[in-house]
Amino acid sequence: MDTRQYAAVEAGGTKFRVAVARGRDILIDTTIPTTTPDETLGATTDFIRGWGTVDAVGIACFGPLDLETSSPTYGSITATPKPGWSDTPVLATIRQELGVPTAIDVDVGGAALGEWRWGAAQGLDHFIYITVGTGFGAGVFIDGKVHHGMGHPEMGHITLERVPGDEYPGHCPFHGACLEGMAAGPAIEDRWGAPGAELTDRAEVWELEAAYLARAIRTFTYVVAPQKVLLGGGVMQTEGLLELVRDKTIQQLAGYVATKPLRGSLEDYIAAPAFGQDAGLIGAVALAMEAADTPHHA
Ligand code: ADP
Ligand code: ZN
Repeated sequence: MDTRQYAAVEAGGTKFRVAVARGRDILIDTTIPTTTPDETLGATTDFIRGWGTVDAVGIACFGPLDLETSSPTYGSITATPKPGWSDTPVLATIRQELGVPTAIDVDVGGAALGEWRWGAAQGLDHFIYITVGTGFGAGVFIDGKVHHGMGHPEMGHITLERVPGDEYPGHCPFHGACLEGMAAGPAIEDRWGAPGAELTDRAEVWELEAAYLARAIRTFTYVVAPQKVLLGGGVMQTEGLLELVRDKTIQQLAGYVATKPLRGSLEDYIAAPAFGQDAGLIGAVALAMEAADTPHHA
């Protein structure tokens, strides 16, 4: 059994969740509002130091992040619309302050790792972890590890075929009607005039939402060939939405590529993450374990 102690940081645009774990069991945790980098990162390292010593730190961070291993700014946030946070060296700051091996990934990459180690993707070599929340993010797990490429994928910003008759211009400041601009939480609120949680009895809201999510899953299915798609985030808490997405994905796939997971009701293919709203934090624990096991993170 792993009895090392890890600090886990889920760094979000609205709040940071910080925890100390023994093995994978969370011992203590706290929530820190995301204000300025100095204040928020300072409160994060103070909390961890207040606990005592840890063996490693894992950070699952909002993006976009520099994850090019050879880059001098590896582990920094790059250009974000979030005021004050562009070019923040998140990894370097925390590693310097705490002086232990530290690993970082984007929030969805960390969440994918946690789901693979202990959650709904155990035993799989290829899957996609999706969160539909304030943004649309996807972590791609291929050949037994989180895929990075030149940084990390930005699958929320692909273009989708419009649902006929839908003329909503989209809500992405960069692309307008990209996937995130059409289907993430703020787009739902902008389009219908109320947040998703207040629209639960409006069937047309979720018909349209599921139609776009199904288009996205069709594209991801054909590009990545995952064994499973985990679909989480605040928007997916809507009752019945997961089932609706499965139905619409069946229509989208239209019977093409009938490998076993893509046949029938898609119940195994499109599933909820095991850790729900804790997926990022548990993922940060998994990242800390990797840091402790991998000397180059020191
Ligand atoms: P974040 O993406 O910031 O980590 P969430 O995953 O909670 O946080 O996503 C927040 C978004 O999800 C908001 O746009 C909110 O309106 C929406 N949301 C939260 N809860 C629900 C719910 N129960 N039903 C529908 N939408 C929800
Ligand atoms: Zn976009």
